[in-house]
Amino acid sequence: MKNLVIAIDGPAGAGKSTAARLAAKKLNYTYIDTGAMYRAVAWKTLQNKEKVTDALIIEVVKDIKVSLHYEQGNTLVFVDGKEVSGEIRTPEVTGIVSQVAKLRPVREKMVALQRKMAAAGAVVMDGRDIASHVLPDADVKIFLTASIEERAQRRWKEMKNKGYAVALDGLQAEMAARDKADSEREISPLVQCKDAILLDTTGMDIDEVVTAILNMCR
Ligand code: C5P
Repeated sequence: MKNLVIAIDGPAGAGKSTAARLAAKKLNYTYIDTGAMYRAVAWKTLQNKEKVTDALIIEVVKDIKVSLHYEQGNTLVFVDGKEVSGEIRTPEVTGIVSQVAKLRPVREKMVALQRKMAAAGAVVMDGRDIASHVLPDADVKIFLTASIEERAQRRWKEMKNKGYAVALDGLQAEMAARDKADSEREISPLVQCKDAILLDTTGMDIDEVVTAILNMCR
């Protein structure tokens, strides 16, 4: 099989990153988690302890250095040389990430980095605008989704395992609000491309999802 470029988009909590990471591992490809890059900008913005405004975010993104290191199936996220892989997953970061990701200067900088990382091929990249905007010539385009109830359940379990006590209904509402913001923003919104294959993972376990993705690549 030639070195493919695989683009996976979809709403929050659809299991994109877990499935993309495992599929990349099976294929011996690099996995690129673009959501982690927007989270990294959100994390650095919060370090200012100021009111989060568009102007502050734009100031922060001017000289931020975001890098992803993919090692043995795991992605480490660095901001200005500091490893922040765990810190970018807090509810505080999740709470502002869509506000961060809707801004043009942020998207331009992150998309340029993403394209550079994918240039060599043999990559699985997941996000919201990968098939539609970042890598429109990707060999395989997948739109991964699941019912909002199941997505919220999955994320709730994940948060609980990490020690965060969050209410399921609150989590579902936060996810729905984030999907709405991501789908309705002006620049590169979350959309299912015409040439993307729909993979609805409701009721599927992770092994079934990874198998389905690998079958689409064959
Ligand atoms: O994938 P994850 O849920 O970690 O993404 C966090 C946020 O980053 C999304 O809700 C969205 O606002 C933004 N994002 C984006 N474009 C991408 C990936 C993520 O706007 N390609």
